[in-house]
This record gives sequence, C-alpha cells and structure tokens, in this order.
Amino acid sequence: MATLLVIAEHERGQLKLATEAAIAFARQVIAVEGGTFHILVAGEEIGRVVERLQGHGATSILTAENPALKDPLAERLAPVIAQAARSLQAGLIVAASTTFSKDILPRAAALLDAGMASDVIAVVPDPSGTRFKRVLHAGNVIALLRLEGSIRCVTVRSGAFATPERNAAPSAVAPLAMDYQSLPGSSTFVSREERPSGRPDATEARIVVSGGRALKDSGDFERLVGGLADTLGAAVGSSRALVDSGITPNSLQIGQTGKVVAPELYIAVGISGAIQHMAGMKDTKIIVAINKDPDAPIFEVADYGLVADVYQAVPEMIGKLSKR
Ligand SMILES: Cc1cc2nc3c(=O)[nH]c(=O)nc-3n(C[C@H](O)[C@H](O)[C@H](O)COP(=O)(O)OP(=O)(O)OC[C@H]3O[C@@H](n4cnc5c(N)ncnc54)[C@H](O)[C@@H]3O)c2cc1C
Repeated sequence: MATLLVIAEHERGQLKLATEAAIAFARQVIAVEGGTFHILVAGEEIGRVVERLQGHGATSILTAENPALKDPLAERLAPVIAQAARSLQAGLIVAASTTFSKDILPRAAALLDAGMASDVIAVVPDPSGTRFKRVLHAGNVIALLRLEGSIRCVTVRSGAFATPERNAAPSAVAPLAMDYQSLPGSSTFVSREERPSGRPDATEARIVVSGGRALKDSGDFERLVGGLADTLGAAVGSSRALVDSGITPNSLQIGQTGKVVAPELYIAVGISGAIQHMAGMKDTKIIVAINKDPDAPIFEVADYGLVADVYQAVPEMIGKLSKR
C-alpha cells in the first residue's frame, strides 16, 4: 500500500492546472498499488488554492503557510517537501513536470535519499514493483524503469494524465508541523521579470499558436501569430529559431529545451518540424501546420496541413475567424 504526496503548484493564488496531472497520476498508482494520497500546498496566502484542491479525493491537504515561502525558492521549498514526506511516511512524491518542479523536486529527492524519475508518461503495473514510462532524447526513446528504495520521486508530463473528476468528499486540511526558522537563507528572491501579454500560458492553454523562422521580425510575429492566437483565445509559442534571432523571448520557446505543451489544438505557423521542436508539442491532440514547403517534416505529424505562405494564409484566417 502506497502513501503518495502530491506537490501543488500555484501562482498568485491560483492553482496551476498541471497539478491535476500529478493528482491523476497518484490515482493511477493507487489503483495499482492501493493506498492513499495527500496534497502539500506550500506558500503564503494559499487559502484559494487549498479550496480549489477539494473534491479530488486526497486523504488530507497539508498546508505549509509562511512568509518564508512567499517566493518559489527551491532551497526553502525542498526541505518543506522532505518534512511533509517524512511526517506522512510517504513512499512516492509526485509533481507535474514544470520548470518549478524541475528545480525543486530533485533537491527534495536528495534530502530524502530517494530515487527520482522525471517526465513520466505512464504507470505500468508489475508484480515485482510498479514501473514507469518516461521520455528520453527529445521523445525518441521511451524508457521503462522501476525506482528502487522506499521513497520515490516522480514528475509527470501533464498531457499524459487526463484531468481527474472532482466529485470526492472534502479532504481534511491540516497544517504541516515545520520549523520555518530553520529554512536555509543563503539565497534571496530579488525580482521577477515577465512580459505581461494578457494571453494564457502555453502549458495551460487549450490552444497554442506557435511561430517559426517564416516570421521575419517581432512585428510580423505579433501581427500574425499573436493576432491568430487572440482571435482564438489561445496562447502563443515559438520555435527556437525565433528565440535565437531575438524575435521572441525565451519564455515562448516550445521544444526539447523549452516548454512541453499538450494542448487540444497546436497551430504551427512556418515551423519546419525539427525533432527538438516536436519533442515539445507532439502530444497535442490536433496539430495544424501551415508551411509553404510541402515536404516540411511538420506535415508528417500534422492532422491538418496547409501548404501556403503564412503571410497570405494567416491574415485570411484571422479575417474569417474574426467574423464568427
Ligand atoms: C540541442 C538542441 C536543442 C534544441 N531545442 C529546440 C527547442 O526546444 N525548440 C525548437 O523549436 N528548436 C530547438 N532546436 C532547434 C531545432 O533543431 C531547429 O533548428 C528549430 O526548431 C527550427 O526552427 P524553425 O522550424 O522555426 O525554423 P526552420 O527549420 O528554418 O523552418 C522554417 C520553416 O518555415 C517555412 N517557411 C519559410 N517561409 C515561409 C512562409 N513565408 N510561409 C510558410 N512557410 C514558410 C520553411 O519552409 C521551413 O519549413 C534545438 C536544437 C538543438 C541542437
């Protein structure tokens, strides 16, 4: 019987939807191994996040609410996770595979002397111990592995685990017993730089419109990719080619060294479909590609392909969609 601890990720009082994949994973493991799961919410002013986590079937929601945890500093959050895992005697700690957890969970695993697997996409029952599938080498290799030891840490790809239903009885909410004074203070959060765009984040959005080298400058990117995204209420993304040439910020990059997204619809505008780019979007439900080269590799994975010049096709699409 397993005791699982799910780490909730949140920002500005809002639960990150990727957390639901971690909950779905926990439920799958329990279906295989038996047991229960708990959720840890660490931060400051976390009331709304705790409320939002009700109904998922957690045995308890542990809260670590303290000004010391106001900012997402891995140094401070990792010991809190380790303490929560010890207090529950949790054998499996899980978080969504995001920049946040990639920073924090390996530190927690080190503190707990636990095995760690990232980017898990499936739970595979096995009499000798549950195995996990994880992606390697830009998604070209799927590894099947079993974590040894009494504590396991896992991050899961959000597109691989469906959003669980929220119809369970409310979970008990309990504060974590923690000495916050003892948390490391050797790094301080200074500031956060972000470009407010008013658009959803690509990792959370149902639709992502992404642009590639076909776009000649940031004005064209904003007009075509941004314009199409806004008519659809979508997030924007970019290939690395545009990031490297300074046309788009690094925060928009989709791919092996950028964000991994799995929306319902991904529209690739003038993107060739290099394996490193596809590693970040190929779990999308429906892929639409617009490219003037009929032999572009993106058409091999696209559900719908349009061989056209993006400078002609995208304004037409925006015009037609705006009339809806
Ligand atoms: C270690 C490593 C990690 C990497 N990580 C990433 C990553 O995370 N994300 C990523 O995206 N890349 C990554 N790359 C880079 C990747 O290999 C490609 O170079 C990059 O994805 C290419 O971007 P692109 O498709 O925009 O450009 P290109 O490959 O140059 O393709 C541009 C496409 O636009 C089409 N086109 C041009 N003009 C028009 C037009 N007017 N109308 C219609 N179509 C047009 C062309 O036919 C072409 O298919 C990585 C590479 C390495 C080595």
